[in-house]
Amino acid sequence: MKTRKVPLRKCVACQQMMPKKSLIRVVRSPEGEVSIDLSGKKSGRGAYLCGQVACFKLAHKNRALDRALKSTVGQDVYEQLAKDFLAVEEEFISSRDEAEDENDE
Ligand SMILES: [Zn+2]
Repeated sequence: MKTRKVPLRKCVACQQMMPKKSLIRVVRSPEGEVSIDLSGKKSGRGAYLCGQVACFKLAHKNRALDRALKSTVGQDVYEQLAKDFLAVEEEFISSRDEAEDENDE
């Protein structure tokens, strides 16, 4: 059995350390636009959230995203992110399940 080093990141809402793969990245671009980054490749300051709406809501409530992104995230941005989050949640979870199946030999 080989051991792989899994990069860990902290969910800004619940403060849990999780493998990077199981977190959703939210990024603030150099232009100041906040968006969800499923590819993990967008440039800018990033924050990580569990792929769960509950954590997104928590981050909204306690302004954890604002702090993590060092920027005030407007209500309209949160609303857009909430929609995007719901849209990607299912895709995100199913792709994660697939990845887990592949490793299950
Ligand atoms: Zn979380």
